[in-house]
Amino acid sequence: MDALFSARANTRSVSCLSGDFWLETTVQLKKSDRIFVAGHRGMVGSAIVRRLEAEGFSNLLTRDRSRLDLSDESAVANFFQETRPEIVIMAAAKVGGIKANNDYPVEFLLDNLRIQNNVIRVAYQTGVRKLLFLGSSCIYPKLATQPTPESALLTGPLEPTNEPYAIAKIAGIKLCQAYAREYGANFLSVMPTNLYGPNDNFDLETSHVLPALLRKAHEAKTLNEKQLVVWGTGEPRREFLHVDDLAAVCLLLLEKYDSPEIINIGCGEDVTIRELAELIRDVVGFDGELVWDRTKPDGTPRKLLDVTKIRALGWQPTISLKNGIAQTYEWFRANSLPGKMLPKALER
Ligand code: NDP
Repeated sequence: MDALFSARANTRSVSCLSGDFWLETTVQLKKSDRIFVAGHRGMVGSAIVRRLEAEGFSNLLTRDRSRLDLSDESAVANFFQETRPEIVIMAAAKVGGIKANNDYPVEFLLDNLRIQNNVIRVAYQTGVRKLLFLGSSCIYPKLATQPTPESALLTGPLEPTNEPYAIAKIAGIKLCQAYAREYGANFLSVMPTNLYGPNDNFDLETSHVLPALLRKAHEAKTLNEKQLVVWGTGEPRREFLHVDDLAAVCLLLLEKYDSPEIINIGCGEDVTIRELAELIRDVVGFDGELVWDRTKPDGTPRKLLDVTKIRALGWQPTISLKNGIAQTYEWFRANSLPGKMLPKALER
């Protein structure tokens, strides 16, 4: 397959000194650049598309999974050959909450490895100028220092429930870094904290905590329930970032950050699950009682990213947790049938 490709990614030398993470970019983004957003129907991909369109980027490349299965190596190669993306944003992945990760370890490992290997490799082979790979905060050890700095990567055992997913993400980071070191490719990896917002996954079987609670609170209110049962003790602390804030910082990094060293993206503040549930209850207007099912696991006691590096650019989020939840709830209601359960169409 290599013979199919003649172009090579730029071969600039990467001068990434320890502690010197903020480099002058050599890649100027043009509004006419062909930008491939992989996973554009997902929460992150759709937010990035909205942001790019709002900023006037006019040459976005997107493909539904039905037209381009990213786990199919030759389909990915053909697509890149035909469309010649100049910039790639890797927001396609198999993503899920604790239950899905626990139930489908093979798929979380294999699908993610396949998707990212295909896209990253072909991006290099076809001369993509810059690629942004989305990792996740779950790449850090279960007992990492809190807040967790980027240097914690590979310093201890991972959280067992999502280890296959985390291993795949770490492999993606290492592949980007290897292309940067060996071939001078300008591939960067960002590590967002827990995200939420429009197009989130509200399927209770596979969703993360915030959309799951939002849906449960909505249904409890709609059905006039007296109680809302929440998993665990409510004591673990978690950090949440609105996906529109992530989209904004991804664009900033594409324009300004030119290093294979990973960079954390978060708001720098965490809340307890109890505080989150109370906030959601208030936003939704559910006036029943929150009941804690202590037989269910809590997971890691605290997960907060050290955001010193990204703050050094002067970036900070603009959407408060309360406003972000309210906006997400508006989206959820607009995309579900009035007064009814969520339609199957939204259950991915
Ligand atoms: P979503 O599940 O909302 O979106 C993932 C997208 O990937 C979907 O559009 C999906 O397509 C697509 N996709 C999956 N497999 C394939 C495939 N084989 N071929 C083509 N497309 C495929 O996930 P998010 O937007 O939440 O996550 C995007 C990225 O951000 C991931 O890398 C994730 O690790 C990262 N991230 C997410 C966080 C979060 O809280 N959600 C937190 C930190 C990082 P389809 O619509 O057809 O299913």
